[in-house]
Amino acid sequence: MTGAGNTKHQVAVEKTADLVAQLQAEISSTLTVVVDLVGRLEDLADTRQSVGLGFMTEQTKDLANKQTRADRAAARNLHPARAHVGLKFLNGAAVLGSGQVEAPVTMNPVSVVAEIHFAVFQHLRRLSRPALLRLLEHEQIGLEDHAICPWPRNPISTTALDVNETNLKVLADRLSNVVSSYRNRPNLQAILRDLEQLEERARDVIDGPSRTNHPDACPWCGRRTLVILHREFGRDVQVVRCEGTHACVCDHEFCDCHRNPTRNRHEWVNSGRAAHTWHALHNLQTARKETIRMETLALDAITRIRAMHQPFWIDGDGDSRTYYVLIGGDEIDQYAPDHVCIDIGTDACQVYDDEPASSLHSVPGCIECQVTHDNSGQPGNRLWPCATYRATQLETDSPDTRK
Ligand SMILES: [Zn+2]
Ligand SMILES: [Zn+2]
Ligand SMILES: [Zn+2]
Ligand SMILES: [Zn+2]
Repeated sequence: MTGAGNTKHQVAVEKTADLVAQLQAEISSTLTVVVDLVGRLEDLADTRQSVGLGFMTEQTKDLANKQTRADRAAARNLHPARAHVGLKFLNGAAVLGSGQVEAPVTMNPVSVVAEIHFAVFQHLRRLSRPALLRLLEHEQIGLEDHAICPWPRNPISTTALDVNETNLKVLADRLSNVVSSYRNRPNLQAILRDLEQLEERARDVIDGPSRTNHPDACPWCGRRTLVILHREFGRDVQVVRCEGTHACVCDHEFCDCHRNPTRNRHEWVNSGRAAHTWHALHNLQTARKETIRMETLALDAITRIRAMHQPFWIDGDGDSRTYYVLIGGDEIDQYAPDHVCIDIGTDACQVYDDEPASSLHSVPGCIECQVTHDNSGQPGNRLWPCATYRATQLETDSPDTRK
């Protein structure tokens, strides 16, 4: 093997070893933090600590609401499948402890403690087997001649442990111990991620949620995707960020969002000196709301104008009727080239085949414009769609003006 290739390989191996050592150290320190947090969570079990809703996307909120409705319906026996389920006698007033009773502890901290306990135990169980095999391998190299029984291996073996009976501190120490001789980088990363997530959940209960919804829409993309971050990577922060994978583009000329609108998210920091402050965010949101209000007003006005300039009216029987104006046969091609003659009824065209120019054709007319225009003016002023109606049509129906 050549020297260069060997060196390269050696560098790669050392780099991986560094990363593994770093991961092992991080797992060990996160475990210490989590064990410490569990102590605080256990203190909270008998208090009235409650966790706010934290952050939820609109979809999650919908799902959570749906689930809550279903749960409550079930609790009230409204669910059809449970309406006739047995043990009805248990619901009699004489039997205590049935039906809805208040939990004897505050559920949030207790449930996170249980989750942490279970996760540490699970990781320990998963890592113990390879760790034990490695230990055996080591011993066999050293003690090939001796027939030894490998069981039990107390510092590693978990087979004797019961998740309910073992102190978390003991489990965490063992996991830390096992991790220190484990080298699979992706698996170590997964364990660290899991522990960090548990740490975050514990902090959510102790310190309050790390992220909450901002009540207003993002000023740039208009979605309800603004998140208030109270804590990030274990540190206290005060940041509002438009989160998500959708494109969110602002009108600042040099903003990174123009290069990659799905990757570069907009952030507002709660500090007077920053470029994008919460105050600036508030101003943008106010401006956006005002724009929307003006747009709505304008659209309402257009809708009212369109409703006025119509050829329809309601007769005494409540039926919708069309108002017609009469156009001479000599003018029909000019003013109503698409006209189709009406053959029957009171509004039928009077067509004279031998003298088409003298015919009178019934063409829908704008009722509003009959009133406002001089009747002696050219017939084009009185037909429908009238000029006013056509103008509003351009405003609201054309695809490129409403985007
Ligand atoms: Zn946005
Ligand atoms: Zn931007
Ligand atoms: Zn006609
Ligand atoms: Zn009109």
